[in-house]
Parts: sequence; C-alpha cells; structure tokens
Amino acid sequence: MTEVARPFDIVLTGGRIIDPRNGIDRVLDIAIRGGRIAAIGKALDTSSAGEIRNVSGLLVVPGLIDLHTHIYHKATAYGVDPDPIAKRSSVATLVDAGSAGAGNFAGLRDFVFAHSSFRLLAYLNISYPGIFAFDRDYVVGEAAIDELLSVEHCVEIAARNRDVIVGVKVRLGIGTSGSIGMLALERAIEAAERLDLPVMTHIGKPPPTYAEILARLRPGDVLTHCFRPAPNSAVDEDGIVLPALLDARERGVLFDIGHGMGAFGFASAESAIAMNFKPDIISSDVHALCVEGPAFDLLHTMSKVINCGVSVSEAVAMTTEAPARAMRRDDLGHLSVGASADISLIEPHAAAFPFVDVAGIERTGNLLLKPHGLFVSGVPVEMGPRDWESRHYLV
Ligand SMILES: [Zn+2]
Repeated sequence: MTEVARPFDIVLTGGRIIDPRNGIDRVLDIAIRGGRIAAIGKALDTSSAGEIRNVSGLLVVPGLIDLHTHIYHKATAYGVDPDPIAKRSSVATLVDAGSAGAGNFAGLRDFVFAHSSFRLLAYLNISYPGIFAFDRDYVVGEAAIDELLSVEHCVEIAARNRDVIVGVKVRLGIGTSGSIGMLALERAIEAAERLDLPVMTHIGKPPPTYAEILARLRPGDVLTHCFRPAPNSAVDEDGIVLPALLDARERGVLFDIGHGMGAFGFASAESAIAMNFKPDIISSDVHALCVEGPAFDLLHTMSKVINCGVSVSEAVAMTTEAPARAMRRDDLGHLSVGASADISLIEPHAAAFPFVDVAGIERTGNLLLKPHGLFVSGVPVEMGPRDWESRHYLV
C-alpha cells in the first residue's frame, strides 16, 4: 500500500527565502504541515493546500530570535510585556538576559513564560536577585555585592530549569559590578562551567576594561553591548578595532549588539564594521526605557545595523542561526524540512530614514525592515500595532 502524503496546511509562495543554516537565499515556495516545515522548493504543488499565501516581495526567514531582552514584566520596573513586542517586530523567540536570578526565577517562569504563546528563554543572572534596581539615573549594581553572587544557588536553579535557561548572565562595569567586576565574572564562569552552559556578559564603563573581560571569556561565551560608545568602546581613538577583540573572535567569543538605552554608538559600530569586524549577533536589549527609542525592538535594531554596512542576509543570520547556536538550540533558527515552523515575514522598505543612536547622533539610512507576518510552530500570529514608528518618523 502506498502512503499518500497529507496536503500542506499552508504554502507561502514567491518570497525571498533566506535560511543561512541551509545556504538558501533565493525566491522559493515554502510549505507548512502539522506545525513543521514540510517542503521548500520551486513551484511546490499547491493543488490541495489548505491555504496559499502569495508573499512576493517579502523576506521569508526563520523565526527571528532576540537574544537580549528584558521581559520580567511588572516584577521589574524596566521589564516589558513580551507579546506586544513580539507581535510588532515579527520575533518568534525572546530571551530574557538576566532580569531574574536564582531568588526570583520561578516568577519569570510561572508569571511570564507560562502565559505567552511565543518562545521565551532566559539567561539566569549570577546575582541572586537578578537586576533589581535599574531606572533612568538610578542603578544599584546587582553584581557589586559579593554576598549576592552565589554560585551554588545559580547552579541549583539553572539545573532545575534547563529547558528554558540557556546560559548565565553577568553585568560588568563600574555601575553594575562596582570595584569587584572580575570577581563577578569569575563567579559567573564557575557556575557556567558546572552547568556546561555559556556566559553572557554585559560590558559597561570600566573597570573592568574591554580587554580584561575578553581575556577571560571562553569559546561560545557572548559579550553583549559590543559596540557601546566610549569609554570601553570596541575601537580606539583612531577608530581601529582593539587587538583584544580580534584575539577573542579568533578563540570563538561571540559579539552581540544589545542596543538598549546606552549601548549602541554609530562611531563604534561604523568604525568596526568598516574594518570588517561585524557583530556575530544582533539583539535589541529592549526594556521599558528604550522600547520607545532609541532601540525600539529587534527589527528596528537590525535595520540600523544594516545601514551601518551589514547586508540583509548577514543581518538575518545574526538574528536566526547565530543566536540559536549561541544558545546551543539546534532546533531553532533555520528552515530545514522537519524543523518547527517558526517563520518571520519581513517587508524590506526602501526609504530615506533617520536612525538615532544612544548618544542622539542621527544617520539617514535607506532601508527599513517592517514586520509583515509571523508563524510560531506553524500557527499564524496577528501582527500588533507599530504606530510608534510613524510617531517618531515620517516614512
Ligand atoms: Zn540588558
């Protein structure tokens, strides 16, 4: 008896499919069946498909992954509600970057993750209370107090939540780790080694310096805020990338944008990218103080980085395959047949467009990525309002 293939549930036709993992960047059709990618090819048979959607002119990419967000909504003053952010920016997976520590992770899991239809994951803060005091002009550093940096507690809670915890977060800089920065990093690495997970480290104003942090990071660890403005910029006064960055990249340390409120400067980004030192990962670091600018969300941050000299297909790799690999989540970030059907539909909109960095410096770009649609596990998600864009910009 021959097995009859079930018809496709949905076929998206005529879009530009960019799937860096599988080396695909061309116009093809893609079919979904049972929540998974069923086929990719030229002129797929749509005769018995449940739904056919013509997506000509759109980018069809693996469900975007925002590796650095703050979504401990209402439990932290700066946390944003993940669902509206995902809906307005076509993002399938949001990763909280250390809002919670061992002492309050259960709330992030039960009060936020459990109520969302998006994929939510987290780095667990090495500091027991997570990031507990962060507001405009008001920061009490969670990594500056030795007694809060409990390896034991971090390991215990991360081990119990391995399905959603992807690494250990630490925030280094004078404002967050005070005078004990390198000690905080040592604790994070010790916990990560016991868990066999990567570390994500924030870099702020020194101490410690960029070079001191990088010297200690291991292959696969992530440095976020990589193109922060001086002090502690990726480039020297002449705009030359620091040798420490080149060495660290050679060893496999990953560089992530983490835009946020204070961590993306055109001077750093443009100089580094001009020297072909591109980020490995683009993330927004979206939180309540930058969600209305200057970071906005992942799609906007991608647009900004593209206008600094990264190609569209590179930017897609930096928000799909690269963050999935950084989290060691091989199941995410690609459109292989059999993979979960997380798909972002993006409209590349050509327009003279003003982008602003964290210092208020403006650049006119020529491409803006706009959300058009999203599937999570094959289920279509209704896009949310993006009215802020017209409030801030006339396009
Ligand atoms: Zn952050």
